[in-house]
Amino acid sequence: MKKVILVRYGEIALKGLNRPTFEAKLVNNIKRSLYRLGKIEVNRSQSRIYVEPQTDDYDYDLAIERLTKVFGVISVSPVWKIESNFEEIKKYSAEMLKDIIDRNVVSHTGAEGTVTFKVETKRGNKRFPMKSPEISAELGGFLLERIPVLKVDVNNPSIILFVEVRESTYIYSEIIPASGGLPVGTNGKVMLLLSGGIDSPVAGWMMAKRGAVLEAVHFHSYPYTSERAKEKVIELARILSNYCYNINLHIVPFTDIQLEINDKCPQDELTIIMRRAMMMIAEKIANANGALALVTGESLGQVASQTIESLYCTDSAVNMPVFRPLIGMDKNDVIDIARKIDTFETSILPYEDCCTVFVAKHPKTKPKLPNILKSESVLNLEELIEKAIEKTEVLTITPGKKY
Ligand code: ATP
Ligand code: MG
Repeated sequence: MKKVILVRYGEIALKGLNRPTFEAKLVNNIKRSLYRLGKIEVNRSQSRIYVEPQTDDYDYDLAIERLTKVFGVISVSPVWKIESNFEEIKKYSAEMLKDIIDRNVVSHTGAEGTVTFKVETKRGNKRFPMKSPEISAELGGFLLERIPVLKVDVNNPSIILFVEVRESTYIYSEIIPASGGLPVGTNGKVMLLLSGGIDSPVAGWMMAKRGAVLEAVHFHSYPYTSERAKEKVIELARILSNYCYNINLHIVPFTDIQLEINDKCPQDELTIIMRRAMMMIAEKIANANGALALVTGESLGQVASQTIESLYCTDSAVNMPVFRPLIGMDKNDVIDIARKIDTFETSILPYEDCCTVFVAKHPKTKPKLPNILKSESVLNLEELIEKAIEKTEVLTITPGKKY
């Protein structure tokens, strides 16, 4: 018997002529996600991918956890690959069901601890001497005898034992849902404006889920913001990198620009002018690194800088598309995703963000672009931006590395 992991993928199967490229990317991303776990072989057959570890001490649980984070994967199953021989099938099926019952992973148990089950067989190997219904019936009978707590229920069983008879036979029962989406790298690159908040990591995750490669930019206002605030953002990027393997994080010193804006512009326009400066810098860094769009965590109406009027003013600062995947979402829905993707606990750590350092008491909620441009014109923005970019630090964040 050999333990393998069956990986199912969804949407990419529909992509017509692009399909081979998508599949190749997915296989590549699967291999990358399993870094340092030991030697594996990855095989593809009939719209499925089999990960076959080549070492005895392979950490299957960790591998499965990582695979559920690879975009493009819809579910994974721990599978036992055995000989296509009915005696073997009986022996290992009983062992697998006992193991599942012992580990308590069945969805529900009935009266007196009974566990309902059924067997589902697919026979691809027509040389195998028994037909599918015959295999299911005989195997079911054998298992009932072997494992006394089992009871057959064909309508709503808590365990389905899948038996696929091919050249080899594959048996499995657990189907663990994964992230879905499209493989990272099947779409272009985007530049995520990553703050230390709840929203922007979720926005980045959503874009990566649709196949975009993420690069990120963070603005910090040392010494008004602390080293720990920066470390928090690095940690958020590291959590995101679990889904997309590596992220170049550009850390931009923003203090001089903020001080200048604070000094020379009307208080109620500070936020909007600051956000425009952020967009301009992000666009420049995007251009220099082959990213074709910006991504923010803005959601309509959440704060003064996220009204339609404000978004119009921030968008006007740049020429490339700005994607805001959270635009129509409520905060609670965003928080649900943040919890699911493991960024929430880090996002709520109480370190200050540069936006909270210089804030007006009553920011304009309906800024007018001509007025903003006029206020902005007193600044020497171009030079300030050039300087900030020169002093930008770039880190390549990967999941396994400590920072
Ligand atoms: P978040 O939870 O993502 O911080 P928010 O609701 O706090 O969002 P704002 O602080 O107004 O909203 O920021 C809006 C968006 O601007 C953020 O989602 C992020 O994309 C970007 N942004 C804000 N501050 C920074 C920063 N210091 N560095 C990089 N991007 C930032
Ligand atoms: Mg914020």
